[in-house]
Amino acid sequence: CGIVGYVGSAGPSERPLDVVLEGLRRLEYRGYDSAGVALVVPGGELAVAKKAGKLANLVEELAAHPLPPATAAIGHTRWATHGGPTDVNAHPHVSGQVAVIHNGIVENYAPLKAELLAAGVEFLSETDTEVVAHLVSRAYEESKDLTAALASVARRLEGTFTLLAVHVDVPDTVVGARHDSPLVVGLGDGENFLGSDVAAFIGSTREALELGQDEIVTITPTSVTVTDFEGAPVDVKPYTVDWDT
Ligand code: GLU
Repeated sequence: CGIVGYVGSAGPSERPLDVVLEGLRRLEYRGYDSAGVALVVPGGELAVAKKAGKLANLVEELAAHPLPPATAAIGHTRWATHGGPTDVNAHPHVSGQVAVIHNGIVENYAPLKAELLAAGVEFLSETDTEVVAHLVSRAYEESKDLTAALASVARRLEGTFTLLAVHVDVPDTVVGARHDSPLVVGLGDGENFLGSDVAAFIGSTREALELGQDEIVTITPTSVTVTDFEGAPVDVKPYTVDWDT
């Protein structure tokens, strides 16, 4: 339902988690039943926390079990469509060294899940989204390129999606893709943002650009690259958000 992504250049810190939690708070008005975050910790670790219920439950969990400083983060508020509102079904979904969050519905998740089960993949949740985490993880093993991996998976999905993915191999990168569901990039100074809505990052920057249909974006602290799902470059038109907060 709500999506936030962040990457910054200041080295491992609390800022990625702070930015993502603030973004999720600003997106709360949209309604949701669970919330979760994944942090990329340089040195090869994903740190994940997710809880059914209000964002306050997640914040309580984070206070009880603090996560380490990170360079990148993704955060999600879920409106369950496939699988009840439980901690396990909350996003992010992790497969190997990949974490994924998703707004929308993967209509063809059943044949994709059957294919993965036949290949010996174990599923933890009842969501449609978990197939995406496994597919991206496997595609990454082939290409070693997170953007190419997400694009190849996006080409196979039917339904509606805004997807963000992170991988421990690239702790300074967040990749996003969209089809019939919005994704906006927030342009910062030595940091960049992704959101399902400008509200996700309006506390930090007003410079934004909207992703077009069937586009994929790769953000690092100092770069924003947009292509279509085939990898062809796309021209982008940044604008200034004219908004009172
Ligand atoms: N279909 C996904 C799920 O049920 C995502 C729902 C959403 O957009 O929050 O987990």
